[in-house]
Amino acid sequence: MSNDVIIVGSGIVGLACAWTALQQGKSVRVIDRDPFCVGASIRNFGFVTVTGQGRGDTWRRARRSRDVWAALAPQAGIAIEHQGLYVLAQRQQAKMVLQELCRQPEGQDLQWLEGQALQDQAPQFVMRHLQGALYSPHELRIEARSAIEKLRVWLATQGVVFQLGQHVQEVISGAVFTGGQWLQAERILVCPGPDMRSLFPEAFSENNTQLCQLQMLRVQPPPGYRLGAGVMSDLSLVRYRGYSELPGAQLLLDQLRVEAPQELAHGIHLIVVQSQDGSLVVGDSHHYGQAMRPFASREVDDLILYEMQRLLCLGHYQVTERWTGIYPSAQQDSLVRDVLPGVQLVSVTSGTGMSTSFGLAEDIIHNWSKT
Ligand SMILES: Cc1cc2nc3c(=O)[nH]c(=O)nc-3n(C[C@H](O)[C@H](O)[C@H](O)COP(=O)(O)OP(=O)(O)OC[C@H]3O[C@@H](n4cnc5c(N)ncnc54)[C@H](O)[C@@H]3O)c2cc1C
Repeated sequence: MSNDVIIVGSGIVGLACAWTALQQGKSVRVIDRDPFCVGASIRNFGFVTVTGQGRGDTWRRARRSRDVWAALAPQAGIAIEHQGLYVLAQRQQAKMVLQELCRQPEGQDLQWLEGQALQDQAPQFVMRHLQGALYSPHELRIEARSAIEKLRVWLATQGVVFQLGQHVQEVISGAVFTGGQWLQAERILVCPGPDMRSLFPEAFSENNTQLCQLQMLRVQPPPGYRLGAGVMSDLSLVRYRGYSELPGAQLLLDQLRVEAPQELAHGIHLIVVQSQDGSLVVGDSHHYGQAMRPFASREVDDLILYEMQRLLCLGHYQVTERWTGIYPSAQQDSLVRDVLPGVQLVSVTSGTGMSTSFGLAEDIIHNWSKT
């Protein structure tokens, strides 16, 4: 059996590569060891974020990916749950960072809101804790846990062949070994998510890649509560490169070291998005290592919920689900490595795969014609 392209891994990175290769007229086979996606791609917020992504390639890829999601979602039957982002500033220093972003080239179309203007536009937030908020129109939210399967099913109708429930044991130039046979392809893309051991482990270790584990919650707010857009807070400004590399971010970090040491120690920042049934997906934390303990911490959940409650006018709420997720993490936002002739390892190593994968896939596959 032979294809132009074989992709190992059917998370969002593999699916984005499959779509892009198909667009180039290639015949594409995607192989995954699981019968359905259980990885990072269904555990995330489904938040396609542009604002705050690292300047340069990552920001550009996020802008492009957002446009691809917007075009593909209706075709694949995926609902856009909401659009836009409020970054809520509780501290003067956070306000300075966000206002600085508005002055950057990436700040085009962003809006700084405070006082009555913010109250009128966003009464769902606790005004007395806020210096103001940045509003971005760029972001999209999809329900990741169903959207990935819908995207996969739709790609199958477009001609991508999926072979699920089959672990790929070995990859050589021109072929992969799975299910007791060799399958051939001119190009092979290995997109294994956080499995850094099965295939090309040395590429991950040379890149100093480790695992990052996150805690997530689903919260049922009172009936009728509408978030309107995704939400982040001050803590996000020291995590995302698009903010943390701006002048003023270091002063914010110094202030947070004094005022929020526990949150920093657990890598906590606030993201809240909303689903069609009104429930909120809330997170998250970041713990790093070569292997992760499977036990979620109550203390970490409480810190995340405290930040949520401080900023959202929620009143009573109920936690209905808790889960963890893992992604590979390294200094650079992504790892694309030629591991053998015609074989590339592709990994988003910054927890931004839902936001950047389509742009990343285009960069990789458009380069093929140049080599
Ligand atoms: C809790 C959490 C929240 C996040 N929130 C966001 C967000 O809101 N926005 C955003 O942009 N990003 C977010 N991210 C990051 C994003 O989810 C990831 O960057 C992205 O899902 C990575 O996709 P992937 O395809 O590389 O990995 P995965 O989704 O993990 O898929 C990898 C696939 O490869 C398969 N595989 C591995 N090895 C083999 C093998 N040898 N043979 C066959 N199959 C194999 C696995 O079975 C798996 O299905 C979040 C991540 C987490 C964990």
